[in-house]
Amino acid sequence: MSATAVTRGGTPWTPQYVEAINPKHCIGCGRCFKVCPRDVLTLVDRGEDDEIDEDDWDDEDAKALMTVKNAMDCIGCGACGRTCPKDCFSFVAA
Ligand code: SF4
Ligand code: SF4
Repeated sequence: MSATAVTRGGTPWTPQYVEAINPKHCIGCGRCFKVCPRDVLTLVDRGEDDEIDEDDWDDEDAKALMTVKNAMDCIGCGACGRTCPKDCFSFVAA
């Protein structure tokens, strides 16, 4: 069963929690970080992620990569996904 909430007007609403950020597409622009109200995300240096082959990056000049730091603090507002220019985010209902 999914967690559900209601808007102030009483309309049912299902939070969509951040599940992952696609590291191949992220350009480290920081838009998602700026809009997140819960300090869920953090920017790391590209060099810290050894699992990603540089050839797979959309932007090989990108120096930073957004990652999920505090997944359990996510309220499922979806703002990060809406602001991302590279469609990096995937979400899941609780
Ligand atoms: S869904 Fe909302 S709370 Fe969760 S990471 Fe995105 S912006 Fe932050
Ligand atoms: S908005 Fe998208 S491309 Fe920009 S840092 Fe966040 S995940 Fe990466």
